[in-house]
Amino acid sequence: MLLDWIRRLCGLGASPQLLDKLRRQAAMMPVLTGLSHEELDRLTKLAARLLMRKAITPQEEMRVDDDMRCRVALQLALPGMNLGWKAYENWREVLLYPAPFVARKRWQDNIGLTHEGEQVLIGQAHYQGPLVLSWPDVDESPILDGWNVAIHEIAHQFDMLDGPANGAPPLHKGMDRAIWSRVWNQAYRQFCREVDHGVESWLDPYASENPAEFFAVSSEAFFEVPRLLRRDYPDVYRQLGLFYRQDPAARLPPVPEETLLPWAQG
Ligand SMILES: [Zn+2]
Repeated sequence: MLLDWIRRLCGLGASPQLLDKLRRQAAMMPVLTGLSHEELDRLTKLAARLLMRKAITPQEEMRVDDDMRCRVALQLALPGMNLGWKAYENWREVLLYPAPFVARKRWQDNIGLTHEGEQVLIGQAHYQGPLVLSWPDVDESPILDGWNVAIHEIAHQFDMLDGPANGAPPLHKGMDRAIWSRVWNQAYRQFCREVDHGVESWLDPYASENPAEFFAVSSEAFFEVPRLLRRDYPDVYRQLGLFYRQDPAARLPPVPEETLLPWAQG
């Protein structure tokens, strides 16, 4: 990484060695299945730029090698590969922990009560950074099971581009705020009702915490089990397609719903 650091200081692009390492890691990640050569090229260049511009700071004396850095960066880059660098400008550092970590957190539950206390977390996104991630959970994330902590936290960062996370990120030109709000409110209310009635769902019930979590969890589903999201929440899928400028359902294989239900996961 020393050479890459020098290249960054000199304002040079990513080294062929770094792009090579990224391509090798990308080939091992099911969540990146089906990307075209051109998309893969754009993704690896964005991941390289993330590695050159953002610090990945190991916590608690963990050792972080280049392959680990590449796995973190590729997953953070996937949601933003068609959004441009601006989407990544509101944070500068990833704190990487060797295990789930304890953090002080203030949160609102689904009936509007505010809580504050210590929680064991696998990821956390702060307004204007840093991003905090547990390495073993990042490492396990790229399989197609609807669950991806790096995508979850970067979705929060995109949401926070215009203020604290609320499930309403700044939209692109041509997108309609009124349609976005209607679609998300409807889907969120429907999902909360199902959770309240104990309906088993392939979508993580954590999504019912608040609209910001519903957006982040739906983003995980969009990139990992897009056909299920498109089947059950077609309007949410359409809005996420417009927002991320991607159509993962067209490139990823179907994932059987029953493998994602809570009873199937022990
Ligand atoms: Zn979250």
